[in-house]
Amino acid sequence: MNNSKKIILVSPRGFCAGVTRAIDVVLETLKKYGSPVYVNHEIVHNKHVIDDLTKKGAVFLKNIEDAPKDRPIIFSAHGVSRKITNYAKDNNKTIIDATCPLVTKVHVQADKFYKLGFKIILIGHKNHPEVEGTMGQLPEDTIYLVETINDINDLNLTGNDKIAYLTQTTLSIDDTQNIINELRKKFPNIESSPKEDICYATSNRQKAIKEYANKCDAFIVVGSKNSSNSNRLVEVAKKAGCLNSHLLENAESLNLSNYSASSIIGISSGASVPEVLVENVISKFQENYSLEIENVSLGEENVQFKLPKEVRN
Ligand code: SF4
Repeated sequence: MNNSKKIILVSPRGFCAGVTRAIDVVLETLKKYGSPVYVNHEIVHNKHVIDDLTKKGAVFLKNIEDAPKDRPIIFSAHGVSRKITNYAKDNNKTIIDATCPLVTKVHVQADKFYKLGFKIILIGHKNHPEVEGTMGQLPEDTIYLVETINDINDLNLTGNDKIAYLTQTTLSIDDTQNIINELRKKFPNIESSPKEDICYATSNRQKAIKEYANKCDAFIVVGSKNSSNSNRLVEVAKKAGCLNSHLLENAESLNLSNYSASSIIGISSGASVPEVLVENVISKFQENYSLEIENVSLGEENVQFKLPKEVRN
């Protein structure tokens, strides 16, 4: 067994501005309203974050109907459909909306296209809460989901329709571009958002991994199984040439024997992952190997979002 290893620690990684804001929303709501506070869906897709906030008094619900009438309801970073917003309003709930502003931007654009008479194609993953939220901004027969290129031929649209596309914010840049290219072939006049829908954090993390994964024998993306952006990072690492790339929930799930033959291991993390989880993974390697750590970065991020007015100090 080789007793020394090199870790290439790739940045940008970890919390994005939308996740930081969403967690702060829950913490500020707990301060203002006391515990428990109720959150529609997991506030962000990370087990550690959810466990921590649960201990502090947050309750994560699958159905908004299960929220007590007299307590505020927080919408997660992924956004919600109009049906859910309307339910909360109709039941006089205090809504505290932690939807990432970059998801809201897609909702606003969907509405603009709809009002201009467009049929909308949403590129995204079925059943993901963000996709349900965005689809749920518009009447059913005006927005169509495309997950893969194969779905394009099934679309009930013609070249005479006014068509626009939008995307989920956390998709693979390259796979999405391939779908867009096919859409443009079939619908040459298709319109799109003035700015990318895939968010800066998704894009930066993917670009950084694409740059460095091929220099590694193995690549670890710290992130939860239900995290879309973390899963995409594993795919990017594989496509960049590091086939031995895996998602890892935390240090406890790390099986060191899987890395015994790897001399250079890349590490990054998804946008909902606290840095302590990455540090714990490195510590576990450090306890067993002599470690050289190289920090590499494709640039700094300095995006910040204001908290919603209901919990702003
Ligand atoms: S990954 Fe992007 S869209 Fe999602 S919360 Fe973070 S910044 Fe917002």
